[in-house]
Amino acid sequence: MYTGSCLCKAVEYRIDGAIDSLVHCHCSMCRKAHGAAFGSYAQVPLERFHLTRGKDQLGVYHSSAHCTRTFCSHCGATLQFVDNRRHDLGVAAGTLDTPLGEVPQAHIFVDSKADWVEICDRWPQHRLDSE
Ligand SMILES: [Zn+2]
Ligand SMILES: [Zn+2]
Repeated sequence: MYTGSCLCKAVEYRIDGAIDSLVHCHCSMCRKAHGAAFGSYAQVPLERFHLTRGKDQLGVYHSSAHCTRTFCSHCGATLQFVDNRRHDLGVAAGTLDTPLGEVPQAHIFVDSKADWVEICDRWPQHRLDSE
């Protein structure tokens, strides 16, 4: 089990069971949403994710036809990436309060990565999505 929260703690969540993988998305939308070199998301089956506090604080932004990004409407912390064609969601890994431990990781959309970033770790790099 894992727990996490936004910067101001208005929103808290729990993830039951294991986190399957961690993806670092270098697409321009994830970079914008995180204000960072890339967005790191823990991939979690929908039924294992539970908001435990602050549901009314959750802001929702539809970033494309199938995709929704949520954030804390008070502090602005990025929280979730939901693609309604998939049965899992991405939880912004920087909001975890529990150590993640050893899980498989991957970089995706590396063709879109910021030119000031060099990927120097051992994880696979995919030009597009990981599938
Ligand atoms: Zn917050
Ligand atoms: Zn992305």
